[in-house]
Order: sequence, then structure tokens, then C-alpha cells
Amino acid sequence: MESSVFARIRENLLATRHNLSGWLRAAPARNRQTRLGPASERAMQAHLRVLDTAIAKTEDQTLGLCQVCHGYIDPEHLEMDYTACVCLDHFSGEERRQLEADLELSQKVQKALLPQHLPHIPGLELAVFSRPAQIVGGDYFDFFHFADGSHGLAIADVAGHGMSASLLMASVQTALLTLAPITHSPAEVLNHLNRFFLHNVHLTTFVTLFLARFDPTQRTLTYSNAGHNPPLLYRPQTNGGEPVARLAPTGAAIGLIEEFEPGGETVTLAQGDLLLLYTDGVTEAINPAEEQFGVERLAALIQQEACSPARMVVQAVRQALQEFIGSQPLADDTTIVVAKLNGDA
Ligand SMILES: [Zn+2]
Repeated sequence: MESSVFARIRENLLATRHNLSGWLRAAPARNRQTRLGPASERAMQAHLRVLDTAIAKTEDQTLGLCQVCHGYIDPEHLEMDYTACVCLDHFSGEERRQLEADLELSQKVQKALLPQHLPHIPGLELAVFSRPAQIVGGDYFDFFHFADGSHGLAIADVAGHGMSASLLMASVQTALLTLAPITHSPAEVLNHLNRFFLHNVHLTTFVTLFLARFDPTQRTLTYSNAGHNPPLLYRPQTNGGEPVARLAPTGAAIGLIEEFEPGGETVTLAQGDLLLLYTDGVTEAINPAEEQFGVERLAALIQQEACSPARMVVQAVRQALQEFIGSQPLADDTTIVVAKLNGDA
């Protein structure tokens, strides 16, 4: 098994250990009692010991060794149950069916936020990569329709990570997918979202969100950017201008300010234009010399790869990121969406 898998699992186990033991130390007795119900604190201590054992095993890389064949079990199986110590293959019958069902559920839960299939948008070639730093992340991208049937795309990032960021993102997704079909522009959706979330107690942090509306017949892209990292738009035919434009924020992130007035911009796209959306995990990836990957590197990369198909551009960014950070795992949730204008509009 790759050492990056151990590193990622270890990071999650340490975070869990930290959160659970911190809660146990700090929560008032009555709160502890309610949360534990009929169970005792000793039962929870036992769980912490299981965590500690697993953490120790990530250090000497013995976590996930199969007791039957002595090879490593499947990483996805291990991510679902860090105490698993027998490969799926060695089970038979009912037990195996149960484990396979659990594994399927685990994958569904992880992927619930992300669209299962890329949509067909006439004139646009799409490719994406998304991987949370923890098993559940705070990144989100989606495709949807506006009231007039035009195509929408979104990328968002919740400040923070882990389960709470992920749950928060689930509610942003629900709100977005409810609002978009009854509105006509990205700015209108953002306005609704901010009004809805600003004073809502469940929004415990803020959310950056880039929304765009693509009209395949006019080839126009209308966007509003609520505090999200500027997507990059590479345009081969610039007539002397900057080849890579940054679609800078047109408003604040959702949940930050009362006087929210998200602006909107429209660009007319041409054959070969390439739009790259990304989250912090890409530009803030750190190399062993503590330097950030940065947006300049990303801009140079898409210029270099602009003639490749969208999925190859995504592949090239992933590869450049991995080479940049070396053997360490990515520290943040990482999402890349590439949309390239082709000729079949
Ligand atoms: Zn085995």
C-alpha cells in the first residue's frame, strides 16, 4: 500500500482522536451523559484505545495487513473500517455480501455531494477531479439548470474541513439546486443564498462560491464569484491581451457581510477557450521547501496544455501537483474542473 494512504488515514485518525478526547475532557457532565446515553465513559475510553492502536499501526505501516494472506487489504475497505484485518476475498456467502453492501454505502456517502455523471453540455467538453483531504470534505462542484434551461456550473469551498464542513456543504448544495431552477442569473442565486444563510445558525463559517451560466447558442458565460479563488480563463485568440484571464470575485463570500451585492460579468467564448475552476487545495499545496503551488504555475500549465483534451488538462494539473508536493499527501481538499469550448455547439 502507498505511504500516502497511510499518511491520509493516520491524519484522519489523529483528528478523530483529537476531537473525541477533547470533547470528553471539555464537555459538561450532563452533556456527556446525554451523548453517551446508557453507555459509560469506560466504553468510550475503549474506543479511544482502538483508535490509538490503529494510529500506532499507521506508524509502522502494519495497519490493514491481512491475517490470512499477509498482504494489504483494499485501501477503500480500510478507509471504511480501519480495524479491518481480513481481505474481502476470504469471506464467503452472507458475510461477504454484507461487507460489500457496507463498502458500497461508504462510497456513496463519500460521493453523495459530487455529481455522479458529468452532464452533456453542447459545445463544452468537461473533465473533473475531486478528492477530499479527509474522507469527507468541504469542496463541492455541480452542474444544474437555470429557469430558462441554460446550463449552470458551480464550484464552492467551505472554510474548514471534515464532517461539519461536509454537512454544511450538503445544505449549500440543497439550497443551490432548489434556487437555481427558479432564477435567471448567478447573481440572483447568490443573493438568495446569502439572504438565506447569513443569519442561519447552521452556517457556522463562510462559503466561497463561483457560479456560471453557459448559453451554448450565444457561447456566452455569465458568472458571479462570491469570494472564490478566481477561475482561470485561457483564450488563445487574445489580440495581444493577457492570454489567461482571472475571473475575480464580484462579491463577498456567502455568510460574511450584511450588504451583499454580488455583481455579474459576461464573456463571449471562442473555439479553444479553456476554463479552469479550482479550490484552495490546488494553489495552496505546499512543497517540501514550504512554497505554495500558486496560481502562476497553474496559469502557465494551462497555457502549455491548452491544446489537449479537457481530461488530459486535469491529468496534467494532478501530475504537476503531485510532483510539486513530493511524497507527502495533499493537505487540503482538492477539486479541479476543466471546461473547454469545442466546435459542436
Ligand atoms: Zn488477504
